[in-house]
Amino acid sequence: MLYICYAPSMNQSQRVKIKALRGERQKLLQELSSLSLLIRGSFFQRFSTCSRPNCSCHKGEKHGPRAYVAVTQEKAQKQHYIPKQQVNAVQKGILQYHRLLEIVLRVTVINLELMRLKALEEADR
Ligand SMILES: [Zn+2]
Repeated sequence: MLYICYAPSMNQSQRVKIKALRGERQKLLQELSSLSLLIRGSFFQRFSTCSRPNCSCHKGEKHGPRAYVAVTQEKAQKQHYIPKQQVNAVQKGILQYHRLLEIVLRVTVINLELMRLKALEEADR
């Protein structure tokens, strides 16, 4: 049997609030596990020239646009070419990364609120 120990001064409305905060946090944490495509990067497209000297791309008709994702890792930025059929998935992954940041911020706010209510517990999952 699990007993949750509330401070004696805690009133009914605080208990309701704690339950709501924990419920919201639980949903957010579940959503986190659905962000499997996430990529921390920026999407861009560019036109380019190729190595064939007689190709029309050298006379102004450049190839493209081709899609890339720029990812900064250890202070160095690397640009990764995105195959056409993967562009949608990469764009979705970039949006998922922004959602991840939103979730982290919201869970932080919830946990600070629980802390103020003395209801942030190490056993919380
Ligand atoms: Zn060319």
